[in-house]
Amino acid sequence: MSSPETANSGKATKLKKLQAVKGMNDVLPQEGLHWEHMETTLRDWLSSYGYRMIKTPVLEDTALFRRGIGEVTDIVEKEMFSFIDRLNGDELTLRPEFTAGIARATIEHNLTYASPQRVYAMGPVFRHERPQRGRYRQFNQLDVEALGFEGPDLDAEMMVMLSRLWENLGLTGVRLEINCLGEASERLAHRQALISYFEQHQDLLDEDAKRRLHSNPLRILDTKNPAMQAMVNSAPRLSEFLGEASKAHYEGVKQLLSDRGVQFNENARLVRGLDYYNLTVFEWITDMLGSQGTICGGGRYDGLIEILGGKPTPAIGFAIGLERLLELYLETIKPEVSPDLDVYVVYQGEGTSRRAFSLAEELRDAGLTVVLHGGGGGFKSQMKKADQSGAMMAVILGEDELSNGTASVKPLREEGKQLVVPQETLAEAIFELLYGEGELS
Ligand code: ATP
Ligand code: MG
Repeated sequence: MSSPETANSGKATKLKKLQAVKGMNDVLPQEGLHWEHMETTLRDWLSSYGYRMIKTPVLEDTALFRRGIGEVTDIVEKEMFSFIDRLNGDELTLRPEFTAGIARATIEHNLTYASPQRVYAMGPVFRHERPQRGRYRQFNQLDVEALGFEGPDLDAEMMVMLSRLWENLGLTGVRLEINCLGEASERLAHRQALISYFEQHQDLLDEDAKRRLHSNPLRILDTKNPAMQAMVNSAPRLSEFLGEASKAHYEGVKQLLSDRGVQFNENARLVRGLDYYNLTVFEWITDMLGSQGTICGGGRYDGLIEILGGKPTPAIGFAIGLERLLELYLETIKPEVSPDLDVYVVYQGEGTSRRAFSLAEELRDAGLTVVLHGGGGGFKSQMKKADQSGAMMAVILGEDELSNGTASVKPLREEGKQLVVPQETLAEAIFELLYGEGELS
């Protein structure tokens, strides 16, 4: 069969312009600098609390997310990129979050056999949502999980740790909301009470709510429909159904937060979108990002690993939306970043290119960060590139320098005269200029 393209071969075929998939963004080099800075801050902060990196695949069996996240959730109902691998018929899904994959890996490798684990993962997740500011179809999360800990100290540590992160990044006005979801039996009793309450107010329920009435009535509390607010506000509260142990856990969390001066707001309506949470749930929210203001959400999921076929393993975790965090950071701090570059090597004249190539390697041997000019061009245009590169200084190799075994060094970021230095002591001279106290003669 002929394709439409060949069938039309009379006309010149116009190739479709290739573009990124809708809702999926490129990070270009200038923005990449900010990403690097943020990721470094995050990794330092994580290691100061003893968290270690874990990596799991971007693709998992669709069944993992159906079971792990829950059938009646926004993610599983309408946001997953799921497909059938046409080579073998496998049902696969691009991960919409990290927790299910990490739980699977924990079971598969018996990770918590000897001791509990603090782990983190960073990378892209995928959700088929309507793209808008702060909401993309591919976005990045930092996901942090403490596996095998009962709490409440771990619950509090995570929130204290996050308040430290906002401080490290210089962010202000990120507020903490917390709630206690209790245990399954307590939620079940509450659920029955909710269903009968909503049944008494059938006439006020919208389509979504009617559909969820028996499958996930808790999510009705999360409605954004203004017409339902008053009714939802007077619905039976879970706190009335919490047992002693749940209450004690919650009090323990709040005590430790208060000890550390971390302010929080108790929000009985906070239920979070995923099925697997119990006891503590929390979100960090800012007013600076418009309507997508939640930058971090988390909670305890003591039942998940067992649901997925592992031994009962208490656990708690959170995820930060990194695009939102970066946007907030850039808006608040307006940082000036430049690449961390010591030297830009410029060369001009017969035979200089070959020596410049080695000279740049020698400077790197000495521990300097170096860019060697690429692509030819006149001296002036090379110096312009050196300036634009953000390097602290230019090293210049002309025909004179080449024959004398020297190089010229020109400071680019502050006043200072150009020096001529023997190539053998070039690295030392540069270190002296960068970090030295006295003047170089
Ligand atoms: P929301 O209520 O905004 O849809 P969520 O409850 O679905 O958020 P989580 O599953 O808790 O989000 O994901 C953790 C974090 O990831 C969120 O707090 C948010 O910062 C970020 N996030 C979630 N969905 C998106 C998206 N589509 N694009 C960018 N960031 C997102
Ligand atoms: Mg969502």
